[in-house]
Amino acid sequence: MALMRKRLSEFDIYRWTVSFLDRIKEVKTSQAEREHKKLEGRWKDKLFQDFLDAENRLLLLNYDGTLVPFSPDPDQAVQDAGMRRILKKLAAGSHTELVVPSGRSRKSLGSRLGNIDCGLVAEHGSWIKKDAVTDWQRLDRLSGNGIELLKPVFRDYEVRVPGSLIEEKEHGIAWHYRKADPELGRLRANELFDYLSEYLANTDFHVMQGNKVIEVRTSGVDKGHAVSSWLSMKTWDFILALGDDWTDEDLFKAVPSDSYTVKVSYGPSSARFYLESPQSIKKLLLKLSQLSP
Ligand SMILES: [Mg+2]
Repeated sequence: MALMRKRLSEFDIYRWTVSFLDRIKEVKTSQAEREHKKLEGRWKDKLFQDFLDAENRLLLLNYDGTLVPFSPDPDQAVQDAGMRRILKKLAAGSHTELVVPSGRSRKSLGSRLGNIDCGLVAEHGSWIKKDAVTDWQRLDRLSGNGIELLKPVFRDYEVRVPGSLIEEKEHGIAWHYRKADPELGRLRANELFDYLSEYLANTDFHVMQGNKVIEVRTSGVDKGHAVSSWLSMKTWDFILALGDDWTDEDLFKAVPSDSYTVKVSYGPSSARFYLESPQSIKKLLLKLSQLSP
């Protein structure tokens, strides 16, 4: 904590701005990350057949950008009636466990999916809810006042990038720039990410770059860790993991390698497959719900 406080006191806005000019760069993608292929043709047929043949199935379905299209206003992003029916049908399937890992708060996720009998993961893994009747369970450690120390930095970005906003979570803080000018937002996000990565190194915090969001959380908290209790519940014959952004990579890495991992949109990923959009995801899930016993 003292280390972080010292670092934060050492950099001011002028240092940030000057270094910013040297620091504009895209997030480097690891060469090690494999190419993934489109989920179609025989692979899609095999997925459907494996789903049918399985005695038990685990479905890990990210929310924003996966089950619902990405929206400039997070409050507006809600599944439509069609998707609600699909999720209900899948959740009701015998020997099928449905879990929705998300960066959303407990309240926001609960209000969207509370009437569906599924597991929930909120705030990227800080909280899990095993099923409709179990209470929320907290997985992360106390953040202390570390997040408080970071607030001025996030506020500064909120001011400097019109349209962006801070979201204070129970155990983290996020800066969203969905509504900001895309180019300015992207540049500032890369800048903020680079600095926070450097200054939070070896502290109890880590920074994540999601879809139009930069977020700081306590270390050791991610979606992969959060779903481990479901993964260890039994030997699953069929696992499907769907996600759209960087934070879902932890999910893809946590599941056994023969699982069906699908990223929304083509790009570097640990996922085996990709689909173009939440609309293609909806078609896939509709078919699974029709096959669902
Ligand atoms: Mg997402």
